[in-house]
Amino acid sequence: MVTTTTATTDTTATFHERDHLYLGGRWEDADGRGGVSEVVEAATEQVMGRVPQAGSSDVDRAVAAARAAFPAWSQTPVGERAELLSAMGAGLATRTDEIATLVSREVGTPKNLSVLIHAGLPMLTLAHAAELVASYPFEAEAFPSLVVREPVGVVAAIIPWNYPVHQAVAKVAWALAAGSTVVLKPSEVAPLSAFVLAEIAEGAGLPAGVLNVVTGPGRVVGDALVAHTAVDMVSFTGSTNVGRRVGAVAARSVKRVALELGGKSANVILDDAPLDQAVPDGVAKCFLNAGQTCSALTRMLVPRAALAEVEALAAEAAATYVPGDPFAPETTLGPLASLAQRDRVRAAIRRAVDEGATLVTGGPSAPEGLSRGYFVRPTVFSGVTPEMAIARKEVFGPVLAILAYDSEDEAVDMANDSDYGLSGGVWSGDPERALAVARRLRTGQVEINGAMFNPRAPFGGYKQSGNGRELGAAGLEEFLETKAIQR
Ligand code: NAD
Repeated sequence: MVTTTTATTDTTATFHERDHLYLGGRWEDADGRGGVSEVVEAATEQVMGRVPQAGSSDVDRAVAAARAAFPAWSQTPVGERAELLSAMGAGLATRTDEIATLVSREVGTPKNLSVLIHAGLPMLTLAHAAELVASYPFEAEAFPSLVVREPVGVVAAIIPWNYPVHQAVAKVAWALAAGSTVVLKPSEVAPLSAFVLAEIAEGAGLPAGVLNVVTGPGRVVGDALVAHTAVDMVSFTGSTNVGRRVGAVAARSVKRVALELGGKSANVILDDAPLDQAVPDGVAKCFLNAGQTCSALTRMLVPRAALAEVEALAAEAAATYVPGDPFAPETTLGPLASLAQRDRVRAAIRRAVDEGATLVTGGPSAPEGLSRGYFVRPTVFSGVTPEMAIARKEVFGPVLAILAYDSEDEAVDMANDSDYGLSGGVWSGDPERALAVARRLRTGQVEINGAMFNPRAPFGGYKQSGNGRELGAAGLEEFLETKAIQR
């Protein structure tokens, strides 16, 4: 359970000491061989918490608990499962401020955004899962067969740090809705909200073992889960490199793998688009959560004739971002989540300069007055060409690359010229034209004219952005097996 060594009403100063894992409905000591990991606050670089590093016997215990809980949970009537998900949503609602504060400290997201994304979005997802599963057709006729959809079994859910509650719930809610049981492993960078989620599940009355939480380094705890022969499925969100390894290790036991990986998504601004709306919106879609968003629109493709105007508008939009303390009301750009992440992003900025991209605004140095915390300047490059690293590699920071094109076909080719295919955008004065271009993009999501993210719609990638889908009916079906019964 949580122990706060600094009891104070100011939750931004709370120290989070987590010394137990959530296994089989109980808060258990870790086996002691793994040690502990420190959690570092993004804006202050101070240690803000500690979590246990699970050992291999803890992973075994977590998987055994999920296995033991599976027969009863998979047979629990759908309506009861839906009610428990709704109860978890209600539990989450009561802890909104605490969760938002926690994740703002771990990840650096400005607090007001955290309330919406790190707490509000998972609440919506739990509600959607509860609603959808209640009416989902688990059986269909394929005469003379009966086709039944059954839960896949024990799911290892492995998540990154950038949207830790959303990513946990995008797996847990839908796996549980399907009747599967889960072992959740959060990232070592932002593990604390997973404990809160377990407390919420416990408070909602989720039966023991249906959800289990283990923490620790990916290459130890994550790897052990992926390799485990009693795990039926791995649902992984993270980097493409680790995703490749997850796929390879999981293949040894031929378990199902769903991968949500990186992106380098293109925002195609067509020649009839309203630039004064398209450009600031595109900058915002790149800088969301300080650019630590897998579906960020990091490549802005613009007609060559409009390049100068786009650069000016992008510089103007970037200048409106106020880097600083995630808890200061004026802050619109928090720090990055970790030192390693900040250094990677700064290195990517230096490399873009070295490769000849034009620095429109920003750069590799710390924003003025922010020598402490993992801050990066809001940065815009223009004159980017498709072979540059800044056009090809995921940066995961507030760094936009503007590329010029000469025809609509070239814009589509440039958008699709990527190892990734997670998201994309199209802007046009003509919605039909925008839709036609959206259909040509080889990505799992496309937004037209700045449309909002829809948590009811399936989310996932083409190409090296992964395989499988989360959210909506497709997200539920990830966690289902299909059985044909001949009669
Ligand atoms: P990461 O791949 O380093 O780690 C993700 C998770 O995998 C962590 O929990 C980590 O501990 C674990 N892990 C590490 N090595 C492992 C191994 N060998 N076996 C099993 N698990 C292992 O990613 P990150 O740095 O935490 O997150 C950033 C990345 O996540 C970015 O590339 C981003 O694009 C991607 N991401 C993708 C989506 C999506 O939905 N497509 C969403 C968010 C983030």
